[in-house]
Amino acid sequence: MKKLIGRLMEESRRNIPSGRVADYIPELAKKNRDSFSVSIVTMDGAIAHCGDTGEMFTMQSVSKLFSLALALESIGPKSVFSRVGMNPTSEPFNSILKLEISDSHKPMNPMINAGAIAVVSILPFDTSGERFRMVLDLVRRMAANPAIDFDENVYLSEKLTGDRNRALAYFMKSTGDICGDVESHLDAYFRQCSIAVTTDDLAVMGATIAGNGTCPVNGERVVSASVCKTLRAMMITCGMYDGSGEFALRVGIPAKSGVSGGILVSAPERMGIGVWGPSLDEKGNSVAGADFLERLADELELRSI
Ligand code: GLU
Repeated sequence: MKKLIGRLMEESRRNIPSGRVADYIPELAKKNRDSFSVSIVTMDGAIAHCGDTGEMFTMQSVSKLFSLALALESIGPKSVFSRVGMNPTSEPFNSILKLEISDSHKPMNPMINAGAIAVVSILPFDTSGERFRMVLDLVRRMAANPAIDFDENVYLSEKLTGDRNRALAYFMKSTGDICGDVESHLDAYFRQCSIAVTTDDLAVMGATIAGNGTCPVNGERVVSASVCKTLRAMMITCGMYDGSGEFALRVGIPAKSGVSGGILVSAPERMGIGVWGPSLDEKGNSVAGADFLERLADELELRSI
C-alpha cells in the first residue's frame, strides 16, 4: 500500500504549482505550498502513509463534521435540521447571499460556515468552552488520539481576522436563526477550526466513519451508525465546497476538505484516508489531494456511488 501511495503522490505532486495557499487567515499562509502527505487506515486498523506525515495542520472545515456529529447525537437529527438545511449550495463556503435571499434565512447546510456556526450555537452545553471541549473530545475519540489539541496561533489569527464569520453570525442573530451570545459561539467555532492534526489522525477518523462509528484502531464505539450515515451523505453532497458535484463525479467517495489543505475521506467498509496539501484550487480544495484521490479511487475501485 505504501508503495502505491508513493507512486500516486509523485504523479499528483505535479498539480501543486497550479494552486495557492490560503492566506485570508494569516497564520495559514505560513505553510509550505509543496508539503504533501497521505495516510490510509483500513478496517483492520492497519495504517500506511507517505510524505510529510509528521507535520501538523489545522482541521478548519473538516471540524464541521464533528460538531455536526455531536449535535446529532445530543439533540437528534430533527432538531438539528430544523435549524440548518441539508442541501448543497453553489455559493462559496463563506457566502452571505443565500442566507439573505432565502425565505427561511436558514443556512443551506452544516458544511458551510453559516451552517457550522448555527450548529455550534445549538450544542446543548452551557459555555462556549464546554462546547469546544466536547467537540475536541469527540475528535480525539474518533481519531483514537487523546493528545490532539488546538493550535493557539491559528485560533488567535482567525479570531482577529474573522469578520466575515462575524457578519454571518450577527446576520443569523438578527433573523432569529441563532440565539444567545454570538461572540461565544464564534469563539467555539474558531477554536474547533484550529484543532491540529496529522494525516494519520484524519485517516483514523475517516475509518471510524467508514466503519459506522467504531474506531478500527481501538474498537471503541464512538458514534452511532445513523450519525455516520448522515455524515457520509453530507460529505458526498456538500463536503468539497461548491466543487462537491465535480468531486463526486471524479472521485465518488464521501470526503470533507478544509482551507488548510486537509481532506478527510471515508470509503464505506473499506478505509479512511487523510490527505494534506496546502496548495488549493479556486474552490478551496487541495489540488494535489483531489488529484491523488481520483487516482486512488480508480486504482482501488473505491467509488461508492
Ligand atoms: N476557519 C475557516 C473559516 O471559517 C474554515 C473555512 C474552511 O476550511 O472552509 O473561514
